Amino acid sequence: MSISGATSDELLQRLDRGDLTSVQVTTAYLDQIAARDGQIQAFLHVDRDRALAQAQVVDDKRKRGEKVGLLGGLPVAVKDVICSQGEPATCASRMLEKFVPPYDAHVITRLKAADAVLIGRTNMDEFAMGSSTENSAFKTTRNPWDLERTPGGSSGGSAAAVAGGMAPLALGSDTGGSIRQPAGLCGVVGMKPTYGRISRYGLVAYASSLDQIGPFANDVAGAALLLEAIAGHDPRDSTSVGVDVPAYSRTVQEPLAGLRIGIAKEHFVSGLDAEVEQSVRKALDVYKSLGAEIKEISLPHSKYAVAVYYIVAPSEASSNLARYDGVHYGHRASQFHNMIDMYCASRAEGFGSEVKRRIMLGTYALSAGYYDAYYLKALKVRRLIRNDFDAAFKEVDVIASPVNPTPAFKIGELIDDPLAMYLSDIYTISANLAGLPGISVPAGLTKSRLPIGLQLLAPPFEEERLFRTARMFERETDWHRQRP
Ligand code: GLN
Repeated sequence: MSISGATSDELLQRLDRGDLTSVQVTTAYLDQIAARDGQIQAFLHVDRDRALAQAQVVDDKRKRGEKVGLLGGLPVAVKDVICSQGEPATCASRMLEKFVPPYDAHVITRLKAADAVLIGRTNMDEFAMGSSTENSAFKTTRNPWDLERTPGGSSGGSAAAVAGGMAPLALGSDTGGSIRQPAGLCGVVGMKPTYGRISRYGLVAYASSLDQIGPFANDVAGAALLLEAIAGHDPRDSTSVGVDVPAYSRTVQEPLAGLRIGIAKEHFVSGLDAEVEQSVRKALDVYKSLGAEIKEISLPHSKYAVAVYYIVAPSEASSNLARYDGVHYGHRASQFHNMIDMYCASRAEGFGSEVKRRIMLGTYALSAGYYDAYYLKALKVRRLIRNDFDAAFKEVDVIASPVNPTPAFKIGELIDDPLAMYLSDIYTISANLAGLPGISVPAGLTKSRLPIGLQLLAPPFEEERLFRTARMFERETDWHRQRP
């Protein structure tokens, strides 16, 4: 088995046995990046020497017989929205083109403590706004399964890096689906943890009541391992919660007996691609054969999720992105007449068109006279969406659904139709609004070999249940072993 084709589990075992060194593993992935990323364009920044130096440190630890951290020298690619000291964090925006953070995000501190190797910074939609990675100011990432198609977004670079064998593990962020949606379209595992499970300290804010960092991997165990390394309370993010973090990497192998899986009737309606539906139904058959009970449930307010999201997320974005004024942060225009003009010119030059659209939508929704009609109303419906889930989870343990309504769409296909693009997150957004954990696992390929994902949702802080449920399916199938 080649290094870049192996799962993180297999790699860790070989590292622990001494069959491989972290320098060898890291070199193999760096070589893969050199060979493939010219076409795929998943990375914005790769510092070969820095990565190899980190790998050498882990190898030296092992040589001295010291205990190594949970990630034991495995490379991790990081979405360009997470601050890492001394590495650029552009958020794929001209606004932050020259920003090099002077500090580490909490998750980066945790990765370093776990002896991960930071292999590179991945491309994304600007400020995580988008579903195709086409909104990057710097490059368009391509889907490793079909270079004419998008990898999804906004964490498209991280998903494509793992799918393309250029990193065994990656971090992304998910505000409305940005981990699960690209994971589904690229045929890898991606998880959005519960809101509050991971500290957002050092994550550049998009919509603060929705944003969560989470793992990508080529199998469920890898995602479990990475979440275990980064989850837990951090006093620097007051929304991070002090709930115990289970040893996911161990319990992931334990199947669940008596599993009740809910299927929402609202999820299987027109707009859902036939091959996607077929794969999800086949996945349910796999669970049935394992003794799970499939129950129909209802999420009556889910039809409002996209509309609610496109009030709440842009509102928070318009407030969060106010900090980019050419003074405190980011790009400053070189030509202006006065201070107001300097703000306007800096923002006009620094932000791309989708970011501007979001800022305008949000500013409008929050403005006097419209606040009650839009923002407040959206918050009320958000509560109803959460209530639907609370009721459903009295009947079932997890909820299964498609991740994406269609397989990967073509580059350019939706970019001029924002509404159609927004609808590609129709299955993922509710979990963010309700704060729930969700996972996307590979569950099929279309006839033309495009990946299809299965989404599983669970009640808050039940990531362990999701990993175990997902692993039960993975063990019976070989979709996660398929490579582009
Ligand atoms: N596609 C959604 C958006 O554009 C979700 C993005 C995300 O999760 N960061 O807002």
